[in-house]
Order: sequence, then structure tokens, then C-alpha cells
Amino acid sequence: MADLAPLILRIAVPSPLRRLFDYLVPEAMAENSSQASLQPGCRVTVNFGRREVNGLIIERAATSEFALDKLKPISQLIDSEPLLPSSLFKLFIWASRYYQHPIGDALFSTLPILLRKGELPPAQGQRCWQLSTFGKGLGPDSLKQARKQRALVDLLQAEGIVSDERLAETFSRAILKQLEQKTLIEPIFQAPPAIALEKLLKQNPLSLYSSQQVAMDAIDLHSFNCSLLDGITGSGKTEVYLQSIEKVLRYGRQALVLIPEISLTPQTEKRFRDRFNVPIVTLHSGLTDKQRLNAWMQARDGTAKIIMGTRSAIFTPLQAPGLIILDEEHDQSYKQQEGFRYSARDLAVIRAQQENIPIILGSATPSLESLNNCHKGRYQHLILSTRAGNAVQPDWKVIDLKTERSDSGIAATTLTAIGDTLKNNHQVLVFLNRRGYAPAMLCHQCGWTAECKSCDSRLTVHRARSRLICHHCDYQQRIPQQCPCCLSRQLVAAGEGTERSEAFLQRCFPGTKVLRVDRDSTRKKGAMQEVFDTADSGQPCILIGTQMLAKGHHFENVTLVAVLDADSGLFSPDFRGHERMGQLLTQVAGRSGRGDAPGRVFVQTHQPDHPLLEMLITRGYGYFAEQLIPQRQLTQLPPFRHMAVIRAESNRADEAEAFLRLARKIAESLVPATPELSYLGPLPAIMEKRAGRFRYLLQVEADQRGALQSLLSAVAVQLENHKDSRRVRWSIDVDPQEL
Ligand code: ADP
Ligand code: ZN
Ligand code: ZN
Repeated sequence: MADLAPLILRIAVPSPLRRLFDYLVPEAMAENSSQASLQPGCRVTVNFGRREVNGLIIERAATSEFALDKLKPISQLIDSEPLLPSSLFKLFIWASRYYQHPIGDALFSTLPILLRKGELPPAQGQRCWQLSTFGKGLGPDSLKQARKQRALVDLLQAEGIVSDERLAETFSRAILKQLEQKTLIEPIFQAPPAIALEKLLKQNPLSLYSSQQVAMDAIDLHSFNCSLLDGITGSGKTEVYLQSIEKVLRYGRQALVLIPEISLTPQTEKRFRDRFNVPIVTLHSGLTDKQRLNAWMQARDGTAKIIMGTRSAIFTPLQAPGLIILDEEHDQSYKQQEGFRYSARDLAVIRAQQENIPIILGSATPSLESLNNCHKGRYQHLILSTRAGNAVQPDWKVIDLKTERSDSGIAATTLTAIGDTLKNNHQVLVFLNRRGYAPAMLCHQCGWTAECKSCDSRLTVHRARSRLICHHCDYQQRIPQQCPCCLSRQLVAAGEGTERSEAFLQRCFPGTKVLRVDRDSTRKKGAMQEVFDTADSGQPCILIGTQMLAKGHHFENVTLVAVLDADSGLFSPDFRGHERMGQLLTQVAGRSGRGDAPGRVFVQTHQPDHPLLEMLITRGYGYFAEQLIPQRQLTQLPPFRHMAVIRAESNRADEAEAFLRLARKIAESLVPATPELSYLGPLPAIMEKRAGRFRYLLQVEADQRGALQSLLSAVAVQLENHKDSRRVRWSIDVDPQEL
């Protein structure tokens, strides 16, 4: 028996180090535990550094690169079976390699908090009772003195398992307790009874119009394939989602539905709940830890049939996955911008492929990446080009701010149109992507402007709170009465934010409700609901807000959308600036005229003749996007080349830059620059100083994903082991969304 190979487990622990750690399974533990609790996917407790931490088994091995007597033993096994299904496990491994993120952190940062802390998964299902072995052997003459107890035992004897709920109708809690204490009965958790197929729907599906039907027929629901459902707002994409889900539910599978932001789109969730008679769980930031864990468990054990959630829901375990739907696929919120920088959209496609199930990406304004994947034949392009029902596409009008007078950001023509719309008992949506009262405060005498001491940025005036606030680091101060340079009292708030335009509109239309929607106004719980309630009531009102208003909400009675400033998108330094502008304007415009009345869109700009703006307005987003694609190809930018960014930040400018020079030197020593793989930088970030830190980046671009990935892995390990890496905060961002 002495020649038994040692059992070594490779463990992922929540640590910034990009590697696994080998631990030894003590012989006694190996003999006394079930094999299932030593499998990949189970949690264990180990001594790491000087702490006891929870880790996850990734691999079993018989040898280690370290001497056996140097390996520490596993302290404790936590799970009796793997916590994650192996398919999901594969996704984590893929993601941690692709996004160059430590697997332990990837796993633990996405697990429900209670599981991270080592809690056992709670028992799921319906609480029921059955006789214990002892209870089954009970003679007919026992319990003669306890009539009620006897009756309960008889019932269980006759029926086997009975739900807690049903027992409670006839028996008191005390009876159950007494029998449990006598160990005659025991609780057992059972899956709730399955819903009969004929009762699946609460509400009949709509009959699809022809292009919806064509799209529906094109989606093969039995194996992996990716469809881009490219349909203008209101074209009936959601109806296609609902009917696809219905089909997979009918063959006993689950559907995972990802949306950018649940609190902004309660209607979407409601439509799913109104349609189906099956358990639906939603994973969003408002859940308590316990609720989150329960939802996670219900997805894992198959009780929940539809799982809705934002970005991180892509990591939800599913017992019988059948379909993934990802709505608003162009939305930036699918990319995590810190820590584990994954793209939920791209991972959703990988997951669908690994699980061999279909995926539908939907959008009115698809990303150039996805459009290009259609060109390449990787995705099928399904187009819905008309609005369902009676609604027609809105009319656009461009307002030239060079020639028209405006007050608080609102041009005279726009103001008249707002008045007319309200008079017709319709609603108005005013869009301005700048919260606060004014983006700057300056001195009329000497030209001083209020700037943030920790960032390369100006402080925003928030008049309601009497504060100047930095939107990048949240520094706040009172609004000064005097200029700190020349002591003049002539301080002016320059430019427009939502707060100022709101105040102005309220003055112009005193009898009308003006509702502001931005991160400030919705901080209060229930504030968003009030906005939705007012909007849904149909009463004439003005909604003014940032891009929060552009997200998917269906406002029946809005017939005028006013975009106060279209210029910022035209001159963005980001290579995706134009794409984003097209998406945002189209999405905002899509809020207009969704009901029976036709809608109008007013766009205010200093560049009324800008060819891109004109193209977008006259030809629509589809055409606009198709023109941007060859430009990307010409300039060799994603999706035509693959990009990664190594970022570094430090309190001292020279440290971050020096660290990235080192990174570049290491990278070039591994793969010298060629036309196929090139380096750019270190460059200062667009906002070099932020929250007191100087930020730099090194861009790496390559023709082949594989080449980029293996280079990054090698560079990451060397940087991690370099002493200078502890002086800066650094990270790798693969497929960055923002530079
Ligand atoms: P999208 O998701 O593309 O914005 P929706 O699915 O929300 O579009 O549809 C917009 C409106 O049109 C909804 O009120 C929906 O009920 C209605 N609708 C969708 N498909 C049909 C159809 N086939 N027949 C009638 N009405 C439809
Ligand atoms: Zn001054
Ligand atoms: Zn700041």
C-alpha cells in the first residue's frame, strides 16, 4: 500500500497572482472523504500566506514542480460535490486565459458572496417530510396515546413524501416537531412539481409578421449558432426572444437573458413575467446576498427556467442550458472596466459554443464587431426593418446652433416645438449627456476656472447641492462666493448640464411636470419608478436626462425627442467615437413615436453639415455603420486587428511611464515589433491625471489573436515577478472598450 501516489490538488485562490497553488491531500482526508468532494469545482480551505482562505480545486495531479515536503496540506474540504458544472468551469478557464486575469480572482469575484465566504449551498426546492428508517419500522400499536402523531405517521406511510405546506393544513407545527425529535420523520427537499407544457404560457404569443417569422425560422434552436437580430427600436425583437424562449422551454431547457441594466428597463422583465408561467429569476445589484445565492442555486438546479441578469449573470450555472439571449449587444456596460475585464457579450458567444446552444444578439444599433462577424459569416444577420404595429419611424430635424439663439442649452425652435407637443397632450424627451448644473465655473474678471486638484478636469457646478463636484474622483467643495485669484464676486456657471436645462424648462412651462433622470436624480430609491409611472400615465410632461434615458424604455406617448448637444460625439478622441455617437443618437431617437402618434427628433449642433451626422440622419444607422467598417479596416483598428492595452498608474508620473517602458522592453525581447504585431506607447491616458494618479498605457496590436495572447501571457508573468510591479498599479485590458 505504500506505493500509492500522493494526491496533489491545484487550487485557485483569490489572489492577484496569475497561477495555481499546489496542496497535498493528507492521507487520512483522502481515505475518509468521498471522491466527489475532491473533484475540480469543489471548494477547499487552505493556508495561504498566513491566512486561511477558501479556494477552488482546478486540477488533480500526482506530481508537482515543488518538492513534496514543501507542499502544505489542504486544511478542509467544503463541498460534497462540485459547485460549478464542468462546462461553466471551462468558461472560467478560457476567460482567465483570454483576459489575462488570475483564475482565482476571476472565479471568486463572480461567485455569490456567501459562497465566497465558504457557506454551504442552501437546500433547494420544496420542504417535504417522509418517515425515517426508524419511523418506517414503527409497529401499528405504537403512539396509541398520541392520536395526532399517529395520524401523521399513517399519512406518510400511505403517501411516502408529503409537502410541508399540505401537512400544515391538518397538523400543527408542534406535532411535526415532536415526531422529528423522536426521529420518526425527517425533512427532505424536493423539486417543485414540473409545470405542464400546456400551462407554460400565461398569455398568447403575438402572430409574427413576415420578417419576424423569417428571423424566427432562421434560428436553429438545437445547436450552437449565433444570430445578430438587427432590428430598429420597436420592430419586435423582444417578441422574437419570447417565442424562441418558449420553444426551448418546451423541450425542457433554460434560457439565459442578458440585458444592460435591469433597473432602467423594468418593462422588459415584466413582459417576460407576463408571458410565461415558469419560475423566472433576475440577478441584479439590488439583491441581498441571500437572494442572490438563492437565485444562483435555482439556476443551477434547474428550478428557474428563465434567468435574467446584467453582465455578471453570464457566469450563472445552468442545469439545462438551451438558449442565450443578449439584448442591446452594442451596449458598453457588457464590458467590465476594472478588475476582471471581461466582455459578457464575447463570453456569451464562447459559452454558447461550449454548451452547443444557440445565441441571439439583439440590437437596433449593432456594434461594428458584430456586423463584421456577420460579413465574415460567423454570425447570421437577421434584419427587422419595420416597426411592428402602427408606429412609424420618426422625422429628424437639425438645428444649427451657430445661427440660432439658445437659452440654457435649448434653441428657440426647439422650445417652440416642446410647447406645441405639450399642447397636443404628448410627452417630450430632452437628452443631454452632462449631469449637474454647468460643466464649469469661471471668473468673469480674471478667467480663473475651478479645477480638480487630483484630476485633469474641471469641477462641475451642482447648484441644487450648492457644490462643485469632480465627476472623476468625486472630490467636492462648496461653491465659492469669490474668485480665489482676484477676489472678484463675478463667478459664472458656464455651459449647460441637465440641472440647468431642467430649471429653465420648468420656468418656461410652469404647469408641466419636468422630470430629470440622471445619476444624481435617481440616487433616491424609487425615483426611477416615479419617472416611469408618470411617463406611463401618458400625461403631458418633459423628461430630461442623460443616456440613462436612452436605454430601452418604451415611452408610449413621447412624440418629440430633443438632443441638445450632438457635437461631443463628433469630436471624440476615441476610435469608437463615431460609432458610439451613431448608436446613442439612434437609440435616443428611437424613444420617439413608439405609440400610435408619429414622432419627431430635433438634433442641435454647431456642425449641421457634418457628413457623418447627415449620413446618419438621412440613411439610418445600418448604412452609417457599413460606411464606418471600411474606415476601420483602412486604419487597421479593431475588429480588423486585435488590441490589448497594458495600463499603469502611480502617484508619480515617471513611475507609471517607466514601468510601461519596462513592459515594452520585455515584450520586444520576446516578440520584436513587426507589421503583424506592433507596439504603441507608453502614452499618457486621455485624462492623464485622475484621482491623484498619473495614468499611462501601452498599446499592443496584432493580426492574430493567438500571437497577442501568448505574448501577453509571457509578459504578464515577467511583470508580475518584477520588483517594480509593486510600485505601480497595473493591469492588462484585452479588447479594450475605452482607451
Ligand atoms: P423591440 O424589442 O424591437 O424594441 P418590441 O418587441 O418591444 O420591439 O415590439 C414593439 C411593440 O410592437 C410592442 O408593443 C410589441 O407588443 C409590438 N409587437 C411586436 N411584434 C408584434 C407583432 N408581430 N404583431 C403586433 N404587435 C407586435
Ligand atoms: Zn478672478
Ligand atoms: Zn477629480
